[in-house]
Amino acid sequence: MTCKKCGQCCRWSYFGFSIPVELSPLLKLRGAEIVDSHVLRVPLVCSKLDQTTNLCTDYDNRPDVCKEFPEVGGIRPKECKYDV
Ligand code: SF4
Ligand code: SF4
Repeated sequence: MTCKKCGQCCRWSYFGFSIPVELSPLLKLRGAEIVDSHVLRVPLVCSKLDQTTNLCTDYDNRPDVCKEFPEVGGIRPKECKYDV
């Protein structure tokens, strides 16, 4: 299993709720993407991400959700090339 260290998982957040279709154009204008009728992906770059190197600037203290990703929980961004 290998992480490609692209940092994409630190650049997006996913929210689950019912999304009215009529909001789709507005959400796209704001950089968000509708993954499916119940999941919205929003560009939200973590403040700990070094956007030049794509590495975490506080790696040793990153939260458990980051340590466990992507094996446990979370939605993998479509750009994720992690070998599973
Ligand atoms: S804390 Fe580090 S590993 Fe976790 S999302 Fe932020 S930059 Fe990524
Ligand atoms: S998106 Fe996937 S390949 Fe890229 S850093 Fe995150 S886990 Fe690794």
